[in-house]
Amino acid sequence: MLVRVRACGICGSDIHGWDGSTGRRRPPLIMGHEAAGEIAALGPKVTGWQAGDRVTFDSTIYCGQCAPCRAGRVNLCENRRVLGVAPVEYRQDGAFAEYVALPARILYRLPEALTFPQAAMVEPVSIAIHAVQRVKVAATDTAVVVGSGMIGLFVVQALRWAGAKRIVAVDLEPGRLALARELGATDTIQSDKADVAAEVAKLTGGAGADLAFEVVGISPTLQVALGCVRKGGSVVLVGNLAPKTDFPLQSVVTREISLFGSCSSAGEYPLCLDLISRGIIRVEPMVSATAPLADGIDWFQRLSAPDGSRYMKVILQP
Ligand SMILES: [Zn+2]
Ligand SMILES: [Zn+2]
Repeated sequence: MLVRVRACGICGSDIHGWDGSTGRRRPPLIMGHEAAGEIAALGPKVTGWQAGDRVTFDSTIYCGQCAPCRAGRVNLCENRRVLGVAPVEYRQDGAFAEYVALPARILYRLPEALTFPQAAMVEPVSIAIHAVQRVKVAATDTAVVVGSGMIGLFVVQALRWAGAKRIVAVDLEPGRLALARELGATDTIQSDKADVAAEVAKLTGGAGADLAFEVVGISPTLQVALGCVRKGGSVVLVGNLAPKTDFPLQSVVTREISLFGSCSSAGEYPLCLDLISRGIIRVEPMVSATAPLADGIDWFQRLSAPDGSRYMKVILQP
């Protein structure tokens, strides 16, 4: 399928790929994997679609044939190629462009109500929905979200959708905690002002949280997530800024904590598109700016500056 791109979000991984720190965007490469647009042309064997259909697409081209794909875990595909990524093994041009060519199996139709920029947010939303679906959320659960950046704020909303009783958002930034409250957090903890584990214990009658979501991926935040769950609790690991971290082995073993890695998403797009179009997951508060594709280089420079973290999502429109 040839898709005319109408909106494509800049991901943190694009910034870290662009500055060379991850080695996963070896030039020359067209980046961009969080996008939406409309079908411009169909391949001869494609059925069920028409030119002009409004679509979004999975950030990962999965093969559909390998064992993980056949088990429905397409995020773990043995032959996965992420759009707009060029590690050593492959080079797959992405969607910071007027057009992108894609296999039909990764396309999803947009609900009427969704704008292209909203639809370009489905990828980060799907990461949060996938993370929350890695565990069972009970109506009596207290869940702690460590890190209230964009993905953390989607995890907060996903937990509210999943029906958690108490959602505790943790961050250093008061502004992000205020937004977390607006989006469904019942409690917030500013982690440089309070002992998070002690505060969570207070909120839960001394027991600790049932669930924690680690959405940063460095040693200190991992300690916070592991430290605030109860005996027998579960921690979902989403962030992975640091490839290796300190790990409190005895505390995890002796309290029988369950750990769940969560990577990307595996078929949650239709659910996410529905949740966004019904306003159950709000994406607008996370969009810091939309700009023409031609301004992309300026935005990459702004986002990679020391104060770049004040922006959440910037969406480029060809
Ligand atoms: Zn991304
Ligand atoms: Zn596969």
